[in-house]
Amino acid sequence: DARATGLPFHSHSATSDKAFRRSFALLRDFEVALAASSDLRLVYQPRIDLASGQCLGAEALLRWTHPTLGPIGPSEFIPLIERMSLATPTTAWVIETAVAQIASWREAGLDLTVSVNISSANLHDSGFADSVKAVLRRHGVPPTVIELEVTETAIMNDAELALTQLNQLAEAGIRLAIDDFGTGYSSLSYLQRLPIHVVKIDRSFIARIDTDPRQLSLITMMVSMAKHLGHRVVAEGVETPAVLDRLRSTGCDEVQGYLFSHPLPPQDFVAWTKVGRRDEAPDRRLA
Ligand code: C2E
Ligand code: MG
Ligand code: MG
Ligand code: MG
Repeated sequence: DARATGLPFHSHSATSDKAFRRSFALLRDFEVALAASSDLRLVYQPRIDLASGQCLGAEALLRWTHPTLGPIGPSEFIPLIERMSLATPTTAWVIETAVAQIASWREAGLDLTVSVNISSANLHDSGFADSVKAVLRRHGVPPTVIELEVTETAIMNDAELALTQLNQLAEAGIRLAIDDFGTGYSSLSYLQRLPIHVVKIDRSFIARIDTDPRQLSLITMMVSMAKHLGHRVVAEGVETPAVLDRLRSTGCDEVQGYLFSHPLPPQDFVAWTKVGRRDEAPDRRLA
């Protein structure tokens, strides 16, 4: 039905009809952009290590500038492409672009870890782990500098199949992160079985941490549980100094958010990391 596809195929109202036509046009145009590798780019949002105050890497996020409609956010086009089996070629483009970027940064003497978001469909593709390994080999990049972010929901779609791919990736030395942690429905026992390295706590939990004491307890518990299982913990969506301050008390390892930087084009990201290191400006120094 309409909800299963996410597209209002049998809607009769004018609004839904308009939404349908937009979705259809976006999908068609995204496919064209992907095939031509045009109008797509990655931006990089710094991830900061709380203990040292250093930026050790970034999350790569996909940006699409539509030729006539302008920038379209991933929150709009990613769910569409995931429903219409464009996730496989999209992730391939994202990984190829991110790994090429890592390789060129390494040539310039910059050692940075980059995380990329992958889709549920990738975990149901038996050739996925091998294809990621091939890209890393081709660019001469060690597997440990890339991290793949996957949501709990994407894993739970078919947990056994997903586990096969996750295990292969982890065995190859590729780091794995659970994204948007807390918003899905994975059980504690499952979290324990996953070969993951990093847990990223969703920003919906982080935002109210400074005003709601129950929220702070909840985060403290999530962090301690994840660390107990041996995972590194990242807090997403840190927007204010008050939130950052509270996060320190939870034992969280890394932070990411507008307080530090918005996602940046590659050159701006490099400039940002250099300013942080050279000047140790108070707004950048966190330790
Ligand atoms: P995500 O992976 O959880 O990425 C974090 C999102 O939060 C990004 O939105 C980022 O710009 C935003 N963000 C970062 N710091 C803050 C903050 O302090 N406050 C607020 N309000 N937001 C913050 P973006 O880039 O719009 O991406 C949205 C989602 O789209 C991502 O969520 C991810 O699920 C998906 N996405 C983005 N790029 C890709 C991609 O290359 N592949 C796939 N499969 N999904 C992607
Ligand atoms: Mg992510
Ligand atoms: Mg997230
Ligand atoms: Mg997300």
